[in-house]
Amino acid sequence: MSKDKARSPSTPHRQSQGGKDFRKRVQRSKEAGAPAPQPASKPRAGNPSARPAIILKAERDKSLLRRHPWIFSGAVDCIDGAPAGGDTVAVRDAAGSFLAWAAYNPDSQITARVWSWHEKDVVGEAFLHQRIADALAARHALAIAQAGNGMRIVHGESDGLPGLIVDKYGDVLVMQLGSAGPERWRETIADILQTLCAPVCIYERSDSDGRELEGLSKRCGVVRGKLPEQVEVIENGLRFAVDVAAGQKTGYYLDQRDNRAFTGTLAADRDVLNCFCYTGGFSLYALRGGAKSVLSIDSSQEALQIGRTNVGLNGLDASKAEWQCADVFDALRKLRDQNRKFDLIVLDPPKFAPTAAFAEKASRAYKDINLLGFKLLRPGGLLFTYSCSGGISDELFQKIIAGAALDAGVEAQIVKKLHAAPDHPVLLSFPEGAYLKGLVLRVAG
Ligand code: SAH
Repeated sequence: MSKDKARSPSTPHRQSQGGKDFRKRVQRSKEAGAPAPQPASKPRAGNPSARPAIILKAERDKSLLRRHPWIFSGAVDCIDGAPAGGDTVAVRDAAGSFLAWAAYNPDSQITARVWSWHEKDVVGEAFLHQRIADALAARHALAIAQAGNGMRIVHGESDGLPGLIVDKYGDVLVMQLGSAGPERWRETIADILQTLCAPVCIYERSDSDGRELEGLSKRCGVVRGKLPEQVEVIENGLRFAVDVAAGQKTGYYLDQRDNRAFTGTLAADRDVLNCFCYTGGFSLYALRGGAKSVLSIDSSQEALQIGRTNVGLNGLDASKAEWQCADVFDALRKLRDQNRKFDLIVLDPPKFAPTAAFAEKASRAYKDINLLGFKLLRPGGLLFTYSCSGGISDELFQKIIAGAALDAGVEAQIVKKLHAAPDHPVLLSFPEGAYLKGLVLRVAG
């Protein structure tokens, strides 16, 4: 990412460069059917001065000045020109001053997502190439590859590429386009990934729920190369089969890599319960770590089948692994009624609250499973509990867990706080990027 600090968030609100009445001039000229006037802040060479622009309402530039990359529809005063979805537009404050280059989407509540804060930038192939190369260089600098051959190469907004996710599983890349900007540059992005990573296949999984909110239909399939019959990822020496085409998300949950490894270090001689196990990520680490037994529960039969395959792939003792296809909410109650007890429990549910609007309902669900989890733990047992809900803050999550422990009648300590692995960075100006939060709790002995 560019190191240019010229427009740091602390830059005071600039003097109007375009004149107080810039907004009015745009509106008036539109009404009169005349070409829109150019703002006084002239775009530099390389950016056609006729570039369409989003003009913000007065006082609605604050989050942009703090470099938050989303422009919500409520902040937009008017559109200068006639951009199509995915086109790059200039974002200007009410006085006409340049704020950012952004990808426009008239069909989303998020009218535009920022590509660049620098007026000199030209959003195109060279720009995208640099951004993706920067993202790769960051992973290299963080030595992510030391943990294996899987990593998130591009993590959307936090890598300066709003809406773009790229995961690498060995020599297969999976890309997910979640907004109009990357959608517009789909072919270019695929070419750049091919050049920079030379994968045997680039597979597209543009089927996230978020696409609907962006007015984009779902699309999946091979974009470059040929999908091998079997895709595998090696993580801290463990082999995992990845169903790139039909698995969840892009096929695997790379974000939990380090947390799974931590679980493995504490599993020896314990009876482990892994809820929402997917393809057995935490289970495999626990088995390798010397767990006495591992019960893994998920509602997806396909995921459990891959989990079983993964045990075999790694030569682990299948007799210690029990797989159960069930709704975790019901299964936990049954285990409680059977008076089953465990020494280590993992709760890694799906996103209950995609946004804060779902927080209340989601809180009840989190409290329910965690209360049951606490009840199933033996004294001195460990609970690894997670939320990947963007709508649940770290503070709220901790509060929910505290309530669950209280109602379960257990005394518990937080022994570690967990987040996503470093190939899922969080841009400081984009706190929404910090979706995954986890607590490791030890109940009193
Ligand atoms: N811990 C896993 C990832 C979990 S993803 C890993 O490390 O790879 C969440 C999982 O919850 C998915 O596999 C999904 O199939 C499962 N799931 C969602 N709702 C469920 C429910 N009510 N009961 C059981 N499993 C559920």
